[in-house]
Amino acid sequence: MTMFGKKEQEKENPKYVFVVGGVISGVGKGITASSVGKIMQDRGMKVTAIKIDPYINIDAGTMNPTEHGECFVLDDGDETDQDMGNYERFLNIDLTRTNYMTTGRVYQSVIEDERAGKFGGKCVEVVPHIPMEVIRRIELAREKADANLVVIEVGGTIGEYQNMLFLEAARMMKLKNPKDVAVVMVSYLPIPSKVGEMKTKPTQHAARLLNASGLQADIIIARSSLPLDERRKEKLSLFCNVPSSRIISAPDVDSIYDIPDNFEKEGFSDMLCELLYTKCSTEKTEGSVKWDAFIRRANAPVGELKIAVIGKYFDTGDFVLSDSYISVIEAIRHATNHFSRKPVLTWINSVHYETNPEKLAELSGFDGIIVPGGFGSRGVEGIISAIQYAREKKIPYLGLCYGMQLAVIEFARNVAGIAGATTREMNPDAEHLIVTVMESQKDTLSAGRIGGTMRLGACDAYIGKDTIARRAYGSETVSERHRHRYEVNSEYIAQLEKSGLVFSGKSPDGRLMEIAELPESEHPFFLGTQFHPEFKSRPLAPHKLFLAFTEACIKNKK
Ligand code: GLN
Repeated sequence: MTMFGKKEQEKENPKYVFVVGGVISGVGKGITASSVGKIMQDRGMKVTAIKIDPYINIDAGTMNPTEHGECFVLDDGDETDQDMGNYERFLNIDLTRTNYMTTGRVYQSVIEDERAGKFGGKCVEVVPHIPMEVIRRIELAREKADANLVVIEVGGTIGEYQNMLFLEAARMMKLKNPKDVAVVMVSYLPIPSKVGEMKTKPTQHAARLLNASGLQADIIIARSSLPLDERRKEKLSLFCNVPSSRIISAPDVDSIYDIPDNFEKEGFSDMLCELLYTKCSTEKTEGSVKWDAFIRRANAPVGELKIAVIGKYFDTGDFVLSDSYISVIEAIRHATNHFSRKPVLTWINSVHYETNPEKLAELSGFDGIIVPGGFGSRGVEGIISAIQYAREKKIPYLGLCYGMQLAVIEFARNVAGIAGATTREMNPDAEHLIVTVMESQKDTLSAGRIGGTMRLGACDAYIGKDTIARRAYGSETVSERHRHRYEVNSEYIAQLEKSGLVFSGKSPDGRLMEIAELPESEHPFFLGTQFHPEFKSRPLAPHKLFLAFTEACIKNKK
């Protein structure tokens, strides 16, 4: 492969890789799309990624995280699917709302255009106008990112009624520029326990369903618990109409970050370069050198850190909970990786501390405690008791959003002596609402305007001198992503500060409290953020507050 000069590369058409799923969902289509982007970025392409969600919802903000996974927030405040977080983390880029679409959004634009008379008297039809709007959005995202490769993940699985129009958009694009569009099908090969053999038939059916949409898979990712053997590769090749060299074995792995390398072991980026008629660089990029170091550290940790994550969205079994807080988990992994430590996370449902307060003592066995974001009143008293334990026993504590609000309430009750201190979310009629809504939110709530109306996206904060936050960030101004409706009540700030709580981060106008902490003389690390630092943590750029928390956990190690 020859090295391509920048000028020559600019002459090429932009390239598009559609990632679609066969057989079942939840087998790593998002991680595949992220990894495809990553390996092509390492080959010198400028990559952006798009997630298409087939549901009518305008965004992911109104969906239950235990059913749908985490709602990932972008700088511009868009509430999106958790896969957008995977793209940002793997590709180390910031995405915008242009990179995310749902059926609801696509139809909404077409209908608005129709009302504005933009179709010039034509009958507006599902086909081709809906796929055309999908293509317009893909183009817009590419232009905005100035990318020469776009990875487009189509949500759901092939054969579902609701993603048909997105496959139709892919077909139309491929018809127009066959050399610029590739289709990667992520499929699943079950190994039924009684049969004891890996079965290819569901994948064969998925490939044919894809054919029925007018598309042919160029590459098949064969997901399974075990590697694919030659026999099955041949069979898939024959019946799915894909050369066996383009069928990639993708067995389960311990770490998602190993997947790009695993793909490359099968020659994935060379395959794509060939399919897309593009000559990519083979020179190692700075990003890939750093990535290699990240992987090396992950594979050779010098020790473990035991971290308790306390909340309430953990009820529905391990499978679901890890998805509700995926960005928190990844942020912990990035920061602990920096110190060559392996995180061991324990998920604790706070409701247990309400019924069995003696159980709180188990927290003494952890090196650090995190309370992530959350909504509603269930389990909140249990969380407050756990925060009190962390404060009194001097266990490093990091509170994220609700975890900050509840830490302020705990402090108000037990240090500042404000009995009954609470948040409006728990009890709107309480006497001491330490956390409450902003005036503008009151109207929004009473009008029932729930979707997309929280305080969302990146806002600047000023970080006070001589604080833990300032030492961690090393700068006076930071920009962090928000997703909340409630705020620390300004009426109580003076009283809380007098009792020793430090508001080390504030909005530029000084009115909104962004970070609360205890001085280091009082506690080794006790800090909460009104924003969500986890959304901005990357493997190659761990978040500075997570780094500071991890450092405190290492010092506190039992
Ligand atoms: N429920 C709180 C609020 O809306 C916290 C939100 C969160 O943790 N993301 O303000």
